[in-house]
Amino acid sequence: MYSKNAILLVDDEEMVKQRLRDVINDDFEVLDASDGQEALDILAANINKVAVIVLDLIMPIMDGFQFMDEFRRHQEYDNIPVIVATANEDWHSEQKCLEAGVWDFVMKPYNPVLLQFRIRNAIDRSRMIMAERDAVTGLYTKYRFYRAVRTLLLEDTGETFAFVRFDIDRFKMINNFYGIKEGDKVLQSVASELRKIATVFARFAYGRIENDVFGVCLPFKEQNIELLVNALEINLRKVNKDYNIKVSCGVYVINDSTLDVSEIYDRALLAAKSCKGRFVQSIAYYNESMIEDMRHEQFIINEVNRAIEEEQFEVYLQPKINLMTDRSYGAEALVRWNHPEKGMISPGEFIPVYERNGIIGRLDQYMWRHACKLLRKWLDEGRNPNPISVNVSRVNIYNPQLIQIFKKLITEYQIPAELLNLELTESAFMEDQDLIMKTMSNLHQLGFKIMMDDFGSGYSSLNVLKDMEVDYLKVDMKFLQDQEFNGKGEKVLTSVIRMAKWLHLPSIVEGVETLEQVDFLKCIGCEYAQGYYYAKPMTVADYEAFVAGEEAMGVKCSTDENLAIVNELWNTRSNTSRLFDMLETPIAVYEYRHEKIELLRTNTRYESEILFDKRVSEHEHDRRVKAEREMLCEAFARIVRGDFCGPMEYELTDDIWYRVTVRVIGKRADTMIMMVTFYEISEYK
Ligand code: C2E
Ligand code: CA
Ligand code: CA
Repeated sequence: MYSKNAILLVDDEEMVKQRLRDVINDDFEVLDASDGQEALDILAANINKVAVIVLDLIMPIMDGFQFMDEFRRHQEYDNIPVIVATANEDWHSEQKCLEAGVWDFVMKPYNPVLLQFRIRNAIDRSRMIMAERDAVTGLYTKYRFYRAVRTLLLEDTGETFAFVRFDIDRFKMINNFYGIKEGDKVLQSVASELRKIATVFARFAYGRIENDVFGVCLPFKEQNIELLVNALEINLRKVNKDYNIKVSCGVYVINDSTLDVSEIYDRALLAAKSCKGRFVQSIAYYNESMIEDMRHEQFIINEVNRAIEEEQFEVYLQPKINLMTDRSYGAEALVRWNHPEKGMISPGEFIPVYERNGIIGRLDQYMWRHACKLLRKWLDEGRNPNPISVNVSRVNIYNPQLIQIFKKLITEYQIPAELLNLELTESAFMEDQDLIMKTMSNLHQLGFKIMMDDFGSGYSSLNVLKDMEVDYLKVDMKFLQDQEFNGKGEKVLTSVIRMAKWLHLPSIVEGVETLEQVDFLKCIGCEYAQGYYYAKPMTVADYEAFVAGEEAMGVKCSTDENLAIVNELWNTRSNTSRLFDMLETPIAVYEYRHEKIELLRTNTRYESEILFDKRVSEHEHDRRVKAEREMLCEAFARIVRGDFCGPMEYELTDDIWYRVTVRVIGKRADTMIMMVTFYEISEYK
């Protein structure tokens, strides 16, 4: 709806304004100003109201020309027509007016009929332009731009054109973090840069297609495209120095100009998609294989209904191993698509497609139902099943029905909620945190256990972790992958597991493929592992056989007894661990490696008496930590050398004495785990 209904009269003569009011009062609200400055102020306050400006040229304070200068600086006024009222036919000033962007003229004194006619005319034109121009940037809107492209292609110049489609990376984030205004500023700066670039080329069309998506059609040369993208990026960097704005740009070199512009656009879009998320390359050219990929994607989408109906999707199970016992403790349900013609299709091929298209929500629910069915079957067969974990995609977290769906499933199949664990991917926790906290709390109330999946795969959410009440941490497999292992990955993994322990979160490391990795995980106290070393994802029948095999073999225990104790300690829910925390003696467990010591685990008594003694200053606290470390370093070094190391007496602070004993409780290659016990002996001193 066109809702502008005011006319802004700018004239210093009250008489003239009165006459004008008489002429137009019936149709419009009249706002009036006596000079240019006042007019600008009124305009700023009434931008959505003013349909036309009728402007006098000669006024005090700020005259009509000065007004136009200012007026034109505001892009948001682009669509407001200005009609100048002149007293005499001064052709020179008329030309100046036209240059200044004035639309039309009327002669003073006004002829009412003529004036009304001109006003109508100007408004009609402005409406038309408004429909074709985008309100934020003043650029052509999608279809107007497409028409401009068509016109370019029809001019038979023998030139080859390129269609460029680009958008701003992480634009949503800019809007969310910095506000819509800042987002608009970014869009406007793109528009103004495009206007500048447009002056360089004789043939050039450009427009805003939607949101942060823009299109440009220009004569094709690689340098032209690079020039365009560089100019845009340099200019964008000036808008805000806090974030590095990049564009993702897809190019279709138009070698078939009979295509619809929307098809041309689709090709550029396909190209643009291929450079999303890459850091170095922001320009990608369309090629034929992209169409092939798109067809394949379309096939995957088209087939989904039939596949669900015909139950082509199968549940595979991959055991999770409790590292303390080396036996499985439950499994993750992973989907496999057994297509009647194409055979097995890997989830890597279809999950991302379904995620992009929102279909994943349905597939998830299919998997949940099948997992519940399976649990029901095992319960009916009198087995005592371990939990199955299912994946919950991001879209389902936003599904307002989610809680109901889970509730219904466990009621329908009569299964205890703790048998169905839910894996939520890390990145979902970064989005709407209030929503996810609420959802999790509802799920917890129903009795579900929640795992944060793929931890460490994206923006590491160390900070988020402390606020989120998840029950398990699933650590992404990237830390174990070849080049990372034995290096940085190993160190990061150690700290992640340790941090999880401080938060009393058991962790599951994914992608475990070798014995070496298993030993390492045990040593750093990881509770669970999942990976090809133990078992690949398998059919339900194979999984049942796997579990039966384990049961037949009896409990397989870790060979190193000490390691078993260490592992017990890591498992914050184990009995040993609970006992450890209940002991009235302060105890700390340290790792010692290459003459460096690191605190791994402490019991509650140690924390209250020594580590976090609230009565002492920060300075005193630091001194204690340092002194304790020096003493222990010496003791550990002696033990490693094989020297005897009996109990030591140690003054924590004035007149508070402890007798400290050290025991080696675990060993792997060059790493030793030491348990340090503190007995207070002040009264014997
Ligand atoms: P994910 O949830 O992180 O699942 C673990 C993936 O790692 C699985 O891949 C599994 O087969 C693979 N894997 C397990 N052990 C090892 C190992 O030792 N080495 C290596 N290299 N890989 C290992 P898969 O089954 O191909 O699934 C890939 C991803 O697809 C999953 O990652 C998950 O994000 C998604 N996905 C699979 N099934 C479902 C499902 O039913 N629903 C949803 N929403 N997503 C699913
Ligand atoms: Ca998972
Ligand atoms: Ca995972």
